[in-house]
Amino acid sequence: MSVTAAEIERAAQVIRAGGLVGMPTETVYGLAASALDARAVLRIYTTKGRPRFDPLIVHVADAEQAWTLCTPSPRARRLAAACWPGPLTMVLPRTALVPDIVTSGLETVAVRVPDHPVALALIRAAGQPLAAPSANPFGMVSPTTAAHVAAQFLASQVLVLDGGACRVGIESSVLRVDPPLLLRPGGLSRARLAEILGEPVALSDRSSRAAAVGLPSPGMLASHYAPRTPLSLRSGTISAGARFAYLSWRGIDVPPQAQAVEILSRCGDLAEAATRLFAALRRLDDAGVCSIICELVPEEGLGEGINDRLRRAAGLG
Ligand code: AMP
Ligand code: MG
Repeated sequence: MSVTAAEIERAAQVIRAGGLVGMPTETVYGLAASALDARAVLRIYTTKGRPRFDPLIVHVADAEQAWTLCTPSPRARRLAAACWPGPLTMVLPRTALVPDIVTSGLETVAVRVPDHPVALALIRAAGQPLAAPSANPFGMVSPTTAAHVAAQFLASQVLVLDGGACRVGIESSVLRVDPPLLLRPGGLSRARLAEILGEPVALSDRSSRAAAVGLPSPGMLASHYAPRTPLSLRSGTISAGARFAYLSWRGIDVPPQAQAVEILSRCGDLAEAATRLFAALRRLDDAGVCSIICELVPEEGLGEGINDRLRRAAGLG
């Protein structure tokens, strides 16, 4: 681990004092606060500019700690054994320990065990579960390096732990467990979840996502994960005079007039594409062009999560 024990201890003190820590995880960097401290959690919302109706994910060190916050079902126990630590968030009935502000008043809570040594060390050192959404201003591209976090918040607001670049690169898959409904595709594929559960896992559309939570959620917001530069999905030929940056899946059929180009994975590896996605979008956003044009990737495995981010960056939900 690139972070020292002394840095972990200092960050744990910040958490215990009600402050915010930029926490590396295997998915993206999180903006972490004690999940048991309602004032600290409120600080997450205000610092991110996140609407209060949008509930947070609680990060725990292991399944046992998770079951203090929510009531596991047989499916939940099976998934925890197979997938944690890892990029699966489970939505389960909450216990009285969880403050209302964490769940936006819902009777369910979203929990996961991150697969990152720094995150696990911080949760253990702080001695409490950590609420953590992605460490970016609401609606913007998620951070996958410590530098991305540091560029977006003041050092006086957030202590950032540098745990290196995130291995998975897109957010966790969010599953309502009983009955299984994937509220957000992410770092663990739907096919893998179905294999573990031995039953099909439906992918919610925006309206059923809303019904599942009973309230609006980011899944409902058409524009999310968006760069500042207007982004659109490629359809057909591109007009000759346009000035744009281009996000390519494999580097094939890249329009020659593109001012800047990012290739997600030349060899067609969806895991590599996920890892590279957000940093590539940031670079294209900094290219000084009027628009970004993106290709979608194959709609399979991690491709569901990648395409979900691209469609929402394009404002298409
Ligand atoms: P973020 O923390 O920004 O990665 O987003 C967390 C995601 O989990 C959002 O899409 C939330 O809507 C979703 N989420 C968190 N808690 C719940 C819950 N209790 N029920 C349904 N979805 C939830
Ligand atoms: Mg986010």
